[in-house]
Amino acid sequence: MIRRGASVAMAALLAAGCTVGAQASRSSPSPPSAPPSATEARGETVGALVRAACRNVPHDVLLRTWRGVRLDRSGDLQIIPREPNFVSGGLTHATPFDLTQDVPLLLYGPGFVRPGVYDRAITLADIAPTLGAVLKFPFDTPDGDPQTQALLPEDERGLPRLVVVLVWDSAGTDVLERWPDAWPYLRSLAERGAWFTNVTVGASPSNTPVGHSIIGTGTFPRSNGFVDEYVRVNGRLQKPNENGPGFLLDPTLADLYDRAMGNRPKVGAIATLAAHVMMMSHGAQWGGGDRDIAVTREKEFGRTAGEEDVRWNLTTDMAPFYRLPRYVNDLPPLSEYVDDLDRADGALDGRWRDHEIARLKGGFDTPARTPFQQALVEAVIEREGFGADDVPDLLFVNHKAIDTIGHLFSADGVEMSDALRVQDEALRRFVAFLDDRVGEGRWVLVVTADHGTQRDPARSGAFPIDIRKLEAGLAATFDGDGDGVPLLQKIRPTEIWLDRAELAENGSTLEEVAAWLMGLTRADTYKGSAPPGPAEAGERVFAAALPSSILGQLPCLPEARAGEG
Ligand SMILES: [Zn+2]
Repeated sequence: MIRRGASVAMAALLAAGCTVGAQASRSSPSPPSAPPSATEARGETVGALVRAACRNVPHDVLLRTWRGVRLDRSGDLQIIPREPNFVSGGLTHATPFDLTQDVPLLLYGPGFVRPGVYDRAITLADIAPTLGAVLKFPFDTPDGDPQTQALLPEDERGLPRLVVVLVWDSAGTDVLERWPDAWPYLRSLAERGAWFTNVTVGASPSNTPVGHSIIGTGTFPRSNGFVDEYVRVNGRLQKPNENGPGFLLDPTLADLYDRAMGNRPKVGAIATLAAHVMMMSHGAQWGGGDRDIAVTREKEFGRTAGEEDVRWNLTTDMAPFYRLPRYVNDLPPLSEYVDDLDRADGALDGRWRDHEIARLKGGFDTPARTPFQQALVEAVIEREGFGADDVPDLLFVNHKAIDTIGHLFSADGVEMSDALRVQDEALRRFVAFLDDRVGEGRWVLVVTADHGTQRDPARSGAFPIDIRKLEAGLAATFDGDGDGVPLLQKIRPTEIWLDRAELAENGSTLEEVAAWLMGLTRADTYKGSAPPGPAEAGERVFAAALPSSILGQLPCLPEARAGEG
């Protein structure tokens, strides 16, 4: 007897155009002597899933997916929509595609950096090793290399007093190209610095924990463990920083550099979320480390790792390992900067463009948060003495306005141009401040992004795959046993966590769930109330769905087979 999940899966694979041996033999005139065993059927399903992945998905996309997976933490299934579709609760940037994977990278620092345009294909994992070279502190990793072609020869440069890593959260290359006139100052710095034109996050999904962990460690999540907005540890799905910094498995540049220097360097991070701090360090948690300065405003016990508080803080689990300066909430309030934004259109009327500012978290979800935070950055540099002596210090800054506005309005919203302009203006101010306080030719700056921003699907043609329909369909197809134990633990845009014991109890396999996903159409998964027209209704929405464990064995991904050998 064919189990329900298996029959559904087989039908879906056939509908998706995958040739499956068992089915071919079923229609042959002379029946085989014995029906295929469960093991044989499973092998055939795996074969079909593997062939579909290798045929439908570009190599880069599969490689990024593999680099982002750790089998002890990631979802049980990896899902790759047909580009440019995306699995949507909202306007997600968590994809393996160039649109959100391509990021800018500027290395600026007269006296240290060799100006030019650099086209070599690199990833965020190359930043930490490159800064190691700037500090003359070798920091090679399995996934990153120092980009010394962009530095002056080692004997022609000294040590900077301060190295700053500045993340424009969500400001991928596509966002900058969408609004080319909105960042004149960054462009002028690019002409005087090293401007890398072929940079990707390098691992999927392109989101905040993934991007920042790569920047910090120079390794991909496959190694460092920060695989997504959630990680499964000890059988429980948790936010990556739910227990402080300890789930980040690899050391950061700052961890090792600070310790090697006897903790004399000043090391600090000024950001919004605990996940941002991971581009800096484990603080005192890493053996021999001290309590580096960290300032965030993550909401304690928020539902996601992205919820924000109304004051600068550290979450309870981060607090033991870092130092939050006392004065950070005593600076001029956000309202002053909100008023500046409000006045920009000529009238102080409580509105930014068409939006009532009060309804955008009192202004915190507007570009006004950028100058508000920039003032904090400058206060911390001044009061803590960053760059004040010959011991090179490290400062990490994340500005989140572009991300916030991208989630609300997409990369295409005119609001994004405001966010970029304000961010660019803050950069101009920051560079002048560093020249004034640290001294010209005494500091090095990296500007990059942790990922890009989703386009407006109405313009990009992307089909948003309704995450709630995936949830409901999975439950209806594979979890009908009524025992009250949910099969589904979490669906994210690129992966799915299941209760594997419950799946087995329900008589199904991961391969069957993957095959079912491959059969889903636009008619099955559309968002909103308007179903797709007849010409589109039957179009499949996924290019690949795979049990995570077979990613490493794809014949079209030799890097993975070598890496797991
Ligand atoms: Zn981000």
